Amino acid sequence: MKKWRCRICGYIHAGENPPELCPVCGAAADDFKPLENLFSRSDSSALKRIIIVGNGAAGIEAARTTRENNNRVEILVFSNESYPFYSRIHLSTFIGDDSKIESITIHPASWYEQHKITTVLNTPIKTIDPKQHKIFDQQGLSYSYDKLIIATGASPVIPPIPGINKKGVFVLRNLGQALQIREIRKDYSSAIIIGGGLLGIETATSLSKFIKKVTIVEISDRLMPQQLDKEGSMVLTHLLESRGITIRTSMKVEEITGTAQLQGVRLVTREVLPAEIVIPAAGISPNVSLAAQAGIKVNRGIVINERMETDHQNIFAAGDVAEFQQTIYGIWPAAVDQGMAAAANALGISYPYRGTMPLHILKVAGIEMTAIGKKYPDQPGEELLIFRDQDAGEYVKLVHNREFLQGALVLGISGIGFRLEKLIKKNVSIRNIIGELAAGNWEVLKQRK
Ligand SMILES: Cc1cc2nc3c(=O)[nH]c(=O)nc-3n(C[C@H](O)[C@H](O)[C@H](O)COP(=O)(O)OP(=O)(O)OC[C@H]3O[C@@H](n4cnc5c(N)ncnc54)[C@H](O)[C@@H]3O)c2cc1C
Repeated sequence: MKKWRCRICGYIHAGENPPELCPVCGAAADDFKPLENLFSRSDSSALKRIIIVGNGAAGIEAARTTRENNNRVEILVFSNESYPFYSRIHLSTFIGDDSKIESITIHPASWYEQHKITTVLNTPIKTIDPKQHKIFDQQGLSYSYDKLIIATGASPVIPPIPGINKKGVFVLRNLGQALQIREIRKDYSSAIIIGGGLLGIETATSLSKFIKKVTIVEISDRLMPQQLDKEGSMVLTHLLESRGITIRTSMKVEEITGTAQLQGVRLVTREVLPAEIVIPAAGISPNVSLAAQAGIKVNRGIVINERMETDHQNIFAAGDVAEFQQTIYGIWPAAVDQGMAAAANALGISYPYRGTMPLHILKVAGIEMTAIGKKYPDQPGEELLIFRDQDAGEYVKLVHNREFLQGALVLGISGIGFRLEKLIKKNVSIRNIIGELAAGNWEVLKQRK
C-alpha cells in the first residue's frame, strides 16, 4: 500500500490515493506527497514491548512507525486524557464552532486494532524506574518496557499574575478544556486573552463569534513577535481590529481583579479592563516532571540527541516535551518528525533527526498568514525582498540569497504561502523570477509546478 505525507502537518495516510482532506490540518489532497520508504534495516526482533507515554502527535507517530517496522513488538500508549488521538491544532477553531468531537478525531477505533496498538486512556503515568525498566501509573500498577518513548507534550504557561486562579480563567491545551470553553462562551460578553501569539489570536477570533468585546493584551510591542516583524504585525493588527477585536500591545497585565469570580484585569498603567473571562495564551512549558523525577536530564525540555535518546539508555523523547539542540519546536510537524525518529531509533534503525523547518499558519478564516523558515537574513549574501500594499492589507517578506529562498512571510494574500514554502523546502532556484516577485506578480508562483 502507498503512503502519503501531508506537507503541512506531517500526517501520514496509507492508501492508493491521498485523502481529500488531511484529518489533522485540513490540507487538500494536493498537499500530500508520496512517502518514500525511509527505513531499510531493523535489528529489533528481540524487543518485546515499547511503551509510549502520551498519545499526541509525537506519541501516535512513534506508535505508527514502530508497527510499520516491527510486526511483533507490543505497543502500549498511555494517555492522561480521556479521548483518543485528536487534532489538537483544531481546538482553537473548535471553541468557535459546533463541530462534533469525531470531526477532529484522527483515527477510527479500527485503526488501532489493525495496527495492534493498545492505547490506555485516563491513565497518567506517575513515575519511571529506569533501572528496572518500568513505569508506574497513579494506582501503582507497573508496566515493563524494553524501550520507552516519552511524548508527554507541554502545558500552557500560567503567568504568575495575582488572581490567576480565579473562577473565569481558562486555558486551552486539550479537548476537555475546549469543551469547557464551549459551554460558557455564550454566557459572557467580554473576554481578555493574555498573549498575542498564534494561539492567542486564533482563540480571540473564535471567541469573538460569541463574545462581544474581546481584547488581546500582548506584552511585546507587536502581535506574533516570534514570527512577524513590526510591519507584518501592523498589517495583522488592522485585519483583526476590522473584525472588532481590540489589540493592546506593549502592555502587561498586573492583576486579575474580582473576588472569587473575576471582574477584569488591571494593567501595568493601572487601567482596569472589565472582563468576565480571561485566557492566558502565553506560551508552553514542556511536561518534564515525569522525566525529571526519574533523573533524566532536563533543561527546558528533555534533552535529546539526534537519535532522540535521552541521557538514559533505552529512553527516548519526542515532541513538545523534547529539547533538541536548545530548541523546543512546539509545532505539530516537528512532533511528527521526532516521533518517527524516536521510534525508528528505538527499533535499532539508524535514523538521525536533523531538525524541522519552522512553519506557522494562522488558522483564521479570511486572514492569510504563513511564516516559514528564516525571518531575517543572517548569512553573507542574504537579503530581504519586501512587497507591501497597505490599502489591500497585503505584506510579503522574503529572505533570499538571489538564488534560493530561505524564509517567507505572507500576510493577506491567499494561495501563495504554500507555493513559497515549496520553493524553500525543495531548494528551487528563484533567480529567474526574483524581479516578478519584487513586483508582486504572484502569478509566476502559480505557473510553477
Ligand atoms: C489550540 C492549539 C492550536 C495549535 N495550533 C497549531 C498549529 O496551527 N500548527 C502547529 O504546528 N502546531 C499547533 N499547535 C501545537 C501542536 O498542537 C503541538 O506542537 C503538538 O500537539 C505537540 O504534540 P506532542 O505529541 O508533542 O504533545 P501533545 O499533543 O501535547 O500530546 C501529549 C499527550 O501526553 C499526555 N500526557 C502528558 N503527561 C502524561 C502522563 N504523565 N501520563 C500520560 N499521558 C500524559 C497529554 O495529556 C497529551 O495528551 C497548537 C496547539 C494548541 C493547543
